[in-house]
Amino acid sequence: MNLNYKSYCEKMRKIADLNFASAVLGWDQEVYMPVGSSDARAQQLGTLAGIAHELFTAPELGELLSLLEKDESLSPEEKLNIKKSSKDYKDKKKYTNEFVIELSRCTSEAFQAWDYARKNNDYNHFAPSLQKLIVLKQKETELLGYTSHPYDALLDQFEPGMTTVKLEKLFSEVKSALVPFVKEIVAKKPVDDSFLKQNYDSDKQWNFGIELLKNMNFDFNIGRQDISSHPFTTSFSSKDVRVTTRINVNDLREMIWSCIHEGGHALYEQGLPESQYGLPWGEASSLAVHESQSRIWENNVGRSLAYWKYHYADLQKIFPENLLNISLELFYKSINKVEPSFIRTAADELTYHFHIMIRYEMEKGIIEGSIPVNEIPKQWNAKYKEYLGIDVPTDALGVLQDIHWSHGGFGYFPTYSLGSFYAAQYFACAKKNIPGLLELIEKGDYKLLLDWLRKNIHVHGRLYTAEELCERITGETLQFKYFFEYAKEKFGNI
Ligand SMILES: [Zn+2]
Repeated sequence: MNLNYKSYCEKMRKIADLNFASAVLGWDQEVYMPVGSSDARAQQLGTLAGIAHELFTAPELGELLSLLEKDESLSPEEKLNIKKSSKDYKDKKKYTNEFVIELSRCTSEAFQAWDYARKNNDYNHFAPSLQKLIVLKQKETELLGYTSHPYDALLDQFEPGMTTVKLEKLFSEVKSALVPFVKEIVAKKPVDDSFLKQNYDSDKQWNFGIELLKNMNFDFNIGRQDISSHPFTTSFSSKDVRVTTRINVNDLREMIWSCIHEGGHALYEQGLPESQYGLPWGEASSLAVHESQSRIWENNVGRSLAYWKYHYADLQKIFPENLLNISLELFYKSINKVEPSFIRTAADELTYHFHIMIRYEMEKGIIEGSIPVNEIPKQWNAKYKEYLGIDVPTDALGVLQDIHWSHGGFGYFPTYSLGSFYAAQYFACAKKNIPGLLELIEKGDYKLLLDWLRKNIHVHGRLYTAEELCERITGETLQFKYFFEYAKEKFGNI
């Protein structure tokens, strides 16, 4: 092997070791760490992040990368690894040390303030740290650079190549299709889904969730599930992938679909090429691609009639007191009930995108400076009235509900909608490529679907951007029509 390339791999793997060690500490913090232990943990995480940043921005790595960028002896995949690492290196170099430290200090302060503010429904308690964070984020857009809109610089960090121009075109299509469609559905007599909110034993829920994960081919030999207050997926290599779920004894839906959703993320992580540990090829392509993998399992598969034709009888056996008299048809309609609501994470598949468009419009305004901090709640509530026709009763159920801003995660939300739209396009393509896919799902057999995702998406890691992957697989760029066709077929029949 090329000696320079070998040395690049060694350096990258060392940095990955540090980052994955941080991920173990982060996982532990969410899952097992006692509440009083957060100060030392924050320090440990800060130290590891600092060392990793130092190693990654060291001039030796920069020199090595610029040599390798000109090296014609590399394979096409090696060249792509170098190209991605060089871009990461140049981006990271744009941050001064003072800026990194200031941002880290400011986000831990903002997180504490947000946590208190949300629990006490007190936006004013969060506003001063949010203000500081916004100023820093605006500064970050200048450090990173952009061509047309400052928000593009932040978007690009989560979704390479995504811009406000592209998003606006997409979202105007989403808005003109979904707003009237949702109105039509909501005007119909709502289904009585109250049986989902009866008492469901916690241990029985847990066991059912584990069975669902096994059935999806989640590999428990190189993964595990635990409980946390916010479900998430993390990994320490493709051979150690962790998911968490949340159980609400008074709402069966939370465990089931968080389990399937995180399971979808985890299958992607378990399918990344092990030999590429620490290199771009061994990482996920983008947040939208990651989300497409969770959504395809959660919605296209896990909220389909075919899926429940297989699993519903088992669920009825576990909870006969709640479900024995509930038909499969009523169950299916209830788990797909469309209803405007305040909380994004509890939203149905359709109104979910209104929550995202609201956040996108807010973030763009905040970053460009047209929405001042003291105006945020008022504008948020006005948009909920406009998009969803509901009056937000409190800031806790409104502008304070999401953790993202307290982490400085401006530019993240759009990837959730993009993920759903990619999922619909991929699922339409998989149905064409895999004969009898729906019949296989009715039998609880997901092997061919997983193989298809592995072959087309997982094994490529970050070699291709979301847009490139989509074109390679489906022959087209992202098209909202696939989601809308899926939605019309499904919700038009419910
Ligand atoms: Zn997700």
